[in-house]
Amino acid sequence: MSDIPAREAKVYMQAARRLPVTIVRGQGTYVWDDTGKDYLDFVAGIAVVSLGHANPGLAETIARQAHTLITVSNIFYTEPQTELAELLTEHSALDRVFFANSGAEANEGAIKLARKWGNMHKNGAFEIISANNSFHGRTMATVSATGTPRYREPFGPQLPGFIFVDFDNIDAIKAATNDRTVAILLEPVQGEGGINVPGSDYLRQVRAWCDEQHLLLILDEVQTGMGRTGSLWAYEQMGIEPDIMTSAKGLGGGVPIGAVLAKEHAAVFEPGDHGNTFGGNPLATAAGTYVLRQLLEGGVLDNVRARSEQLRQRLEGLVDRHELVRGVRGRGLLLGLELHKEVAGDVVLAGLRSGILLNAVRPDVVRMMPPLTITEDDVDRGVERLEAAIREVAAK
Ligand SMILES: *Cc1c(COP(=O)(O)O)cnc(C)c1O
Repeated sequence: MSDIPAREAKVYMQAARRLPVTIVRGQGTYVWDDTGKDYLDFVAGIAVVSLGHANPGLAETIARQAHTLITVSNIFYTEPQTELAELLTEHSALDRVFFANSGAEANEGAIKLARKWGNMHKNGAFEIISANNSFHGRTMATVSATGTPRYREPFGPQLPGFIFVDFDNIDAIKAATNDRTVAILLEPVQGEGGINVPGSDYLRQVRAWCDEQHLLLILDEVQTGMGRTGSLWAYEQMGIEPDIMTSAKGLGGGVPIGAVLAKEHAAVFEPGDHGNTFGGNPLATAAGTYVLRQLLEGGVLDNVRARSEQLRQRLEGLVDRHELVRGVRGRGLLLGLELHKEVAGDVVLAGLRSGILLNAVRPDVVRMMPPLTITEDDVDRGVERLEAAIREVAAK
């Protein structure tokens, strides 16, 4: 074990719970620790490293852009920013983009857009209906919008104007709607909340309610978007279009970037309304363009669907072979392995010993979100290592 944990403990704010491993490099679906041990990375930076670690084309793109122009300011035009905005609008149902640097910052932009739209078009309506167990980020507005009380409560008072209802329950949304309601904010599949996939009609019902009540539908696709669930955006599988959508995580393949997208009628920012120093800088947007082109033209989306099918089948095998394993849920390469006992944390630690990085998203759910470029062999090898971890925990 390196001396990093001891050094870090003295100087770093202890805000994150860390696993006892220091990662030094990666290649494809693998990472290596400081003792040279390899791990199959089924965390991928929490659904971020879409093209795998040290992807040569992405590294080349970033290096070339760094040698050309890393950043100027949003008071000037740059081509990489415009190019990514063109691509995103061409390949989504949304018309305009604003770039941020993270998922939380993208959601901040979406919340500001909705509030301004409420001031302009709905008599100052400002309330946003959000879901229990949702996750929208860690800034003040986004923790206020997040349906997980422990993320909010130490930091009160909250930003007012967020109402929480049960996910996957249209009647709860209808009951919570009033004159002050301006928008409904949802993840198409709840990620941090435990990989909760709603019923097939839910988002269609929400969309119809928004149309009837003149409300904005904001979809947080920070985790589900950019191919993660098997289509470029998860909403495509649900038969609806949002008015506002956010993206981040996988968009830059590891380079920090976020985006707020809106239909023309909801894109109500005017010059001076919103801004940032780094958002949409040439380095991050060149990376985003490279990643998006790989998804669209490089066969990555096809790989997500094929590998998802394979991984699901292998995980169903674990359900058959191990009493501890209850089922599989999720979409694309955002999958959760449900356990009969609250030992997901133990499976994650055993995975470190058997050589796989996993995430305990709930006490009884292990989350898997490998690079979208994962190979057939690496899916098989990953499930072998996961099975070794499950065997170890089951034997205890
Ligand atoms: C991770 C996540 C966020 C926050 O993104 P950051 O880049 O960590 O700020 C917001 N919404 C969803 C759905 C997420 O999964």
